[in-house]
Amino acid sequence: MNILAFGSHPDDVEFLCGGTLLKYRKKGHSIFIALTTSGNIGSNVINGRDVIAKTREEEQLQAAKFYDAQVRFLRYNDEGLVDSEQLRRDIINAIRWASPDVIFTNPPCDLSTDHNVTGTVVGRVMLSLVGKNIPADEPPMKRFPSLFYWDTSAGVNFVPEVYVDITEEYDQKVKALLCHKSQISWMSEYEDQSFVDSCRIMSEFRGLQAGYTYAEAFSAFRLHGVMPDFSLLP
Ligand SMILES: [Zn+2]
Repeated sequence: MNILAFGSHPDDVEFLCGGTLLKYRKKGHSIFIALTTSGNIGSNVINGRDVIAKTREEEQLQAAKFYDAQVRFLRYNDEGLVDSEQLRRDIINAIRWASPDVIFTNPPCDLSTDHNVTGTVVGRVMLSLVGKNIPADEPPMKRFPSLFYWDTSAGVNFVPEVYVDITEEYDQKVKALLCHKSQISWMSEYEDQSFVDSCRIMSEFRGLQAGYTYAEAFSAFRLHGVMPDFSLLP
């Protein structure tokens, strides 16, 4: 299968879905990552939005090696994402590029602005993926993928429907997360927990709910004709 993780910023994928991607990769599936923004305001330490974006894209490419993933950057401005015809077209193109059986993305209940818009628009374009008259550059898909939402950043407002046991993959998940060096150093200046500690707390909390040591939690997108297939989860 082809698996697409559609994030809003470099680090979303590793933090909220990395263990699940590692599990898919171990089973021989192909992994794709798309990001709506390159997190170009995500540092008060590095000067210049272009430099921040370049740094964070390089970090994302390093992390992607853990799943042998291909990566596509849409390069919208960080914290500036709004639903638009162009964003929909770019997201449709990115999904068709990956031709996924399963998509993971930010949940619309995440009120962090880019997370909210990315997750909302990925859902809104689902019916367009197979339409041959939709304005897009990539050819239409033959069938609908299953769409699952990963957790919010600290689990706020998120009600999980299904859990993936990532106990065996947890150490590798942390190693992939540690590729995001610029984000980790900046966040340590304004958050009490380190990014790695936040990751452990989230993974243990979802694991506690599901009866595993570490877990990632997901909910499913549902629309008439585009229902999720839970059997595709690893
Ligand atoms: Zn994010």
